[in-house]
Amino acid sequence: MSEDFLYFLWQFQYFDAAHLTTTAGESLQVLAIGQRNANAGPDFINGRVIVENIEWAGSIEMHLRSSDWHRHAHTTDRAYESVVLHVVWENDTDICRHDGTAVPTLALKNITSPKLLHKYHVLIGSKATIPCENQLGAVSNLQKRMMLDRAATQRLERKAQGVLELLTQNHQDWEETTYQLLAQNFGFKVNAEPMLRLAQGLPLKILHKHRDNLFQLEALLFGQAGLLIPADEYALSLQKEYAFLAAKYSLKSTQLQAHEWKFLRLRPANFPTVRLAQLAAFIQQQPSLFSLFIHGENVKKLEEVLRAKQSDYWQTHYHFQKTTAAKVATLGKASVENIVVNTVVPLVAAYAEAKDNLDFMTKATELLEQLPAETNHLTDRWHQMGIESKTAFDSQAIIELYTHFCVKKGCLQCAIGTSLLKSP
Ligand code: SF4
Repeated sequence: MSEDFLYFLWQFQYFDAAHLTTTAGESLQVLAIGQRNANAGPDFINGRVIVENIEWAGSIEMHLRSSDWHRHAHTTDRAYESVVLHVVWENDTDICRHDGTAVPTLALKNITSPKLLHKYHVLIGSKATIPCENQLGAVSNLQKRMMLDRAATQRLERKAQGVLELLTQNHQDWEETTYQLLAQNFGFKVNAEPMLRLAQGLPLKILHKHRDNLFQLEALLFGQAGLLIPADEYALSLQKEYAFLAAKYSLKSTQLQAHEWKFLRLRPANFPTVRLAQLAAFIQQQPSLFSLFIHGENVKKLEEVLRAKQSDYWQTHYHFQKTTAAKVATLGKASVENIVVNTVVPLVAAYAEAKDNLDFMTKATELLEQLPAETNHLTDRWHQMGIESKTAFDSQAIIELYTHFCVKKGCLQCAIGTSLLKSP
């Protein structure tokens, strides 16, 4: 049993609400359940109840046992003086306010349906990572769709928040923020962290001063990444160029070490060296990453520009010691789609939030809807459960629902879970 279940019972008034009485035997009528309080203080605010024909307006506090009131030291906390009703699962002691007056208490244990309680225990007690997986068929398509839409929106807002935090660190510089996000994304899962640090230590402003020279861009990126080794003539020239530019811009203090990059178990096409070469080519071609992503017309257009062709050297090398007869390709389709989902869309959503402009939020959603769904073990599993992902909007919704509701057993905050509990 959790307090979340009490909130659920209270919010939906899911108990025998006829002829309610307090634990002291007084008649009780609920006029308004109040609003859930996300801040410190009682659980619900602005509630209204009638106790023994007297109407009270104030807060409502919930506990599994009434003695929890003392355990949480509410008697001496003035924030709880406004409590007009104490809702508990079990009443194990009577509670008084600081002035000695009794706090009216409603105990739910004996007025809650045993069937509902059983359904709750089955759902929350399940050991499965998706506790409702065998019951999804009992939920209407409308409820499922509504919950998925909510999860997708929540994911968009959460990612936007992450972008806005980075923007604050960058003193509201959208261009640097976009570059850092993009660099991080070019590291994909395995090298995202060193890529972000690389970008934070090598500002885009410096790279832009050398935008007309791909060789210098590579010298800066590879040198700052700590990946330059004297493997051949080209690498030696990059080293010399980096030594000069690093001294000019005082970059050495933020230089990374070669051991911070991961190559193991990566396909050569995903080596960080290849990604850096692709990033250098992309930066060379784009005068403004931010405006490209914010005003990019559609996914197709973004895909075209993200596939910038790297320098000749990096079309025949996976790293400085490894040449290849086959031409090293530009970013693949899946990688480009990954960048649109994880960089472009959150950036557009963050811009929508920052400017309070709904059009950009609509655009972020539309970009996701233009992309095919991501396929992974999660989307496959939900597909088997009858929930299909048609676009990236759907797959993003599924990822959010799973990681932020199912895994955390947040079924009582989920429309699918509450629908299951409320079903006859
Ligand atoms: S959080 Fe929702 S979707 Fe996930 S297991 Fe619980 S009820 Fe099902």
